[in-house]
Amino acid sequence: MSAAVNRDLLLVNAAHPLGDTTPPPLAPATPETPHILLERRAAALLNALLDSVGGRGRIAAVSGYRSRSEQQAIWDETWAAEGPDFTNSYVARPGCSEHETGLAIDLGLLGDGELDFIRPNFPEDGVAGDFRRAAADFGFILRYPAGKEAVTGIAHEPWHFRFVGVPHSRRMAQLGLTLEEYLEELQNYSETKPLHITQGRYDFTVYTAPRRPRRLPSGYVQLCPTGGGCVVTAWR
Ligand SMILES: [Zn+2]
Repeated sequence: MSAAVNRDLLLVNAAHPLGDTTPPPLAPATPETPHILLERRAAALLNALLDSVGGRGRIAAVSGYRSRSEQQAIWDETWAAEGPDFTNSYVARPGCSEHETGLAIDLGLLGDGELDFIRPNFPEDGVAGDFRRAAADFGFILRYPAGKEAVTGIAHEPWHFRFVGVPHSRRMAQLGLTLEEYLEELQNYSETKPLHITQGRYDFTVYTAPRRPRRLPSGYVQLCPTGGGCVVTAWR
């Protein structure tokens, strides 16, 4: 029995701090920004997504993987410059930032001015709009949508995307679910009563299992720890 283990569905928020600070395998988010890093598979799919919408040279990676100390420095600097209200709205506490997983990317639309580091401009229309519509096909979701502030605990961030992988990204986009809501939905599915998702020529089986499931389904299997347990995704 073998399965790929990744953190694609790991929930990191104020109530779920990231315990393990070991960085994942990292790669440049884009060739144009070699200093901004992302988890290797997320980086490959971000580049495929940018190419598919003609975003290269028009959309820039602004912030990707952050170590705990980098997140602390951003928190301290923002607090000093902007004060507590702004910082609490737009910067996650050290240990509670998705950026520490390497699976989150902040994007900005390249234009005349310099891009804001905390709140880059990433509009709803034009190439940014094309990016938004295609994101779920490449495993990305808008992580902090408008209207879900009470669920995510974070203000609407039109620039922050999270890699969760297919088929999860597509289902979340279709149903308008945040990661918090999706993981809660998956609690309703188990090994004996899994969720079946058909996308293209693939049949996915998804369910929540204990942290170390004793049995795995056949086919290609992925295990994503979520905090308490893990999500099993199998496909053929
Ligand atoms: Zn961000």
